[in-house]
Amino acid sequence: MRTMKCAVFHEPKSMTVEEKDLRPIAPDEAVIRVEACGICGTDIHLYLGETTYASPPVILGHEFSGEVVEVGEEVTTVKVGDKATVEPNFECGVCDLCRAGKHRICPNNLPYGINKDGGFAQFFIGRNDRLYKVPDHVAYEDAAFTEPISNVVHGIDLAGIAPGTSVAVVGGGPSGMLYVQLAKRAGASPLVLVTRSEWKFALARQFGADACISPVKQDPKEAVLDLTDGAGCDVVIEAVGSGKAVEACYDLVGAGGKVLVFGVAPEKDACSLPPFDFLTREISLQAVWLNPGCFGRAIDVLAKGLLDVKSLATHKFPLDDIAEGFSVMIEKPEGFIKALIMP
Ligand SMILES: [Zn+2]
Ligand SMILES: [Zn+2]
Repeated sequence: MRTMKCAVFHEPKSMTVEEKDLRPIAPDEAVIRVEACGICGTDIHLYLGETTYASPPVILGHEFSGEVVEVGEEVTTVKVGDKATVEPNFECGVCDLCRAGKHRICPNNLPYGINKDGGFAQFFIGRNDRLYKVPDHVAYEDAAFTEPISNVVHGIDLAGIAPGTSVAVVGGGPSGMLYVQLAKRAGASPLVLVTRSEWKFALARQFGADACISPVKQDPKEAVLDLTDGAGCDVVIEAVGSGKAVEACYDLVGAGGKVLVFGVAPEKDACSLPPFDFLTREISLQAVWLNPGCFGRAIDVLAKGLLDVKSLATHKFPLDDIAEGFSVMIEKPEGFIKALIMP
């Protein structure tokens, strides 16, 4: 039997690094030795008690990659020695939504790293259909971005960005920076990033942003109207996760345009939108939840080198220092975009 070090989430503000025995696998499961696991905003929300849908005690971490070290006899998706990543969502398969093919909005989704043990551990056990092989030339640290990329790929699909579509991304965190890169590739122009972190401007420009706006220094609405000949943006992407951010995005959208709500807000947060303006300018509000059908494409995007994720992985911590990793995520010091745990 394998023993492993892992970070167990017990209740809000309580997570401890512990030694645990790894249970035996079922015939349709494999063991992955985790090499890199991203800390997501969702992990922080759960840790702080802002969202409550985890099932503690549980090992958090749903953005990870590693090497396959053991496979059950029914496993077909990976073999021992493969680089792999994990599609963490775990729907019930039997509710009406699942059976209608809308499995990613299944109300009974119990993902790895939230309700089932995830990647903040030396080893992970995953079911065959949740495992994806990653090409050897993709680094483990890069492959740990597959899950966040898959959600952004879904958002890009829903945004409907065509060549020349004006796009504003609000939020310069990892998701915002992924959106900037993929929106550019989809033809966004002008492409605007709104973030308080001015040190990110240079990187965003490198990723293809035509303009960067700090809401501290400038009124984003005025700046966006200037950049779009008074029209506002066709697509505005909310990548912060708050009611205030949704309102800020609404301010930037042009008539007939679309606001994508992507960030995960605290459960009790709210926002207010002007219904008359919403109606008469025929604005669309589009939620982007998870990654239906996008996981394999996210690996493809990484494998083809269409994204720079190395520049986003600014901080790395061993598993023993996961508390420090969470603190950095919460404090977001200058120079910080994304933290990875390297078990
Ligand atoms: Zn996440
Ligand atoms: Zn279901």
